[in-house]
Amino acid sequence: MLTKRGNGLSRRDFIRIAGGTLATLGMSGTLTPKLARALEKAAAGRPKVVWIHFASDTGCTESFIKSDHPSAGELVLDILSVDYHESIMAAAGKQADEVLAKAVAGKDYICVVEGGIPTVPGHGMIGGREMLDIAKEVCGNAKAVVAIGSCAVDGGVPAAKPNPSRILGVGEALGMKVVNLPCCPVNPEWLVGTVVHVLTMGKLPELDKQGRPLMFYGRKIHDNCPRRTHFDGGRFVEQFGSKEEAAGYCLYKVGCKGPEAWSECPKTRWNSKESWCIEIGSPCLGCSEDKWTDHFAPFYGKLANVALPYGDVTADQIGVGIAVATGAAIVGHAVVKASRGKSPDDTKK
Ligand code: SF4
Ligand code: SF4
Repeated sequence: MLTKRGNGLSRRDFIRIAGGTLATLGMSGTLTPKLARALEKAAAGRPKVVWIHFASDTGCTESFIKSDHPSAGELVLDILSVDYHESIMAAAGKQADEVLAKAVAGKDYICVVEGGIPTVPGHGMIGGREMLDIAKEVCGNAKAVVAIGSCAVDGGVPAAKPNPSRILGVGEALGMKVVNLPCCPVNPEWLVGTVVHVLTMGKLPELDKQGRPLMFYGRKIHDNCPRRTHFDGGRFVEQFGSKEEAAGYCLYKVGCKGPEAWSECPKTRWNSKESWCIEIGSPCLGCSEDKWTDHFAPFYGKLANVALPYGDVTADQIGVGIAVATGAAIVGHAVVKASRGKSPDDTKK
């Protein structure tokens, strides 16, 4: 008979969570019992997490509370010990400062950072302290630092030009190695997958040059996009509101950055796997990439240096070209057939 564990989750819960996490990680379901046991063991120790906020709109917290495998409630209440999170903790003011100070003194926590860090003095303060100083202290005492969302990774939207507060991502502002989980907001399943990987494997997942876990940022969106056959066939949306848009053609010409964006958005999807940017008709804005707000501006401008299969022509022009080519082929075929069809007698005639 299944019984509730001390932390409130049953073995069946752990098996369910492990199965969902493996699906997110793209790994075999045969590992479910092994992962469930490892997760159960890790959760028994209630690993500590300190979650701090800087310059952002709290969208990554919004995203996190919609996680499914496990749910944010299971993670926060049953698997982790989230000692400090300004948006969801009951404490506030001086009491919250004391909670943070106690957690930092323990030096045995994973620090999750949401938001960029203003580096011009006086441009980013919490409780009279510079955000930069708080970050130095809290991140500096952590076992590992995970920067979630584009703002924490590279400054994100608040760091777009002219960036008068000189907002930077955590790694750059503090000059330290961090795990970067970009996107605006972060996909909650990538955060959960990273935390579960650390808990069960005892180490960080393999990272790319930008500090992103390869398991979530190892493939180009363009290579996994359901509209790719339209790209390959030269069928593009030329403007929003057109019949090409209604037909679900490729969004490259209205600004899609999928050919240069690396992430598993098409597979992981968003909002309980309901949909994702390109599926709802928005071009990918490339928010998985470093300094994307300036690098990919204007958002609805065409990427340069992308080789198009038929050159820069419209689907109608391709259709005319194909029709002309087909017509020429038919005429040519008829001529050949006609000449082959001539019998010696015909020639004589
Ligand atoms: S350009 Fe964008 S919409 Fe078109 S196939 Fe690539 S990722 Fe998909
Ligand atoms: S599809 Fe593109 S814009 Fe949308 S979340 Fe993924 S990387 Fe960002």
